[in-house]
Amino acid sequence: MKIVFATNNQHKLSEVRQILGERFEVVGLKDIGCTEDIPETAETLEGNALQKARYVKEHYGLDCFADDTGLEVSALGGAPGVHTARYAELAGQGSTHDSNANMDFLLHNLENITDRNARFRTVIALIYKGEEHLFEGIVEGTILPERHGHEGFGYDPVFQPKGYDRSFAEMSADEKNAISHRGRATQKLVEFLKLKH
Ligand code: IMP
Repeated sequence: MKIVFATNNQHKLSEVRQILGERFEVVGLKDIGCTEDIPETAETLEGNALQKARYVKEHYGLDCFADDTGLEVSALGGAPGVHTARYAELAGQGSTHDSNANMDFLLHNLENITDRNARFRTVIALIYKGEEHLFEGIVEGTILPERHGHEGFGYDPVFQPKGYDRSFAEMSADEKNAISHRGRATQKLVEFLKLKH
């Protein structure tokens, strides 16, 4: 079964392909000829994920799913949350998805703060056979004082999941997928699709 994952992020595509396995052929936005920037203007992760999935359905007529992820840091009142990708940019310190600038800004904002609790939360919106469905995945953890490891992407070097003594960037893709926010949300999506398919 062919399904569109509304993303251009190759890391995410391969993570999700690994979890979905051979039963589903997951294609990205480039594969369907979608090169325009899909608007993400909602104030919640749920709203953004739905906005992206609806865009693909409306413009390309294909069933699809889209995700949105936020890093929610306790000591920062849940920030950066829905603004995670643009955290540094919004403060005038980098461009969208500039991981280094984002991590620098986060570490700077947490200097001398002892409460390092944080969580990643992913919401996946699926449009399947004319119906909309939402799936959520959460991983709890802490923000490390400095970067560790080189795997993964985004904030992985500074995020250590609860119960582990390594950051996400020190884990293999399989290890991370098994416990990550997107891994957990994707598992729920997969269970759903398996039941329906
Ligand atoms: P998006 O909604 O997946 O584009 O993610 C928003 C922001 O969260 C981006 O800046 C990503 O770098 C970051 N992010 C999303 N997933 C992960 C992850 O698995 N590890 C580290 N950072 C992530």
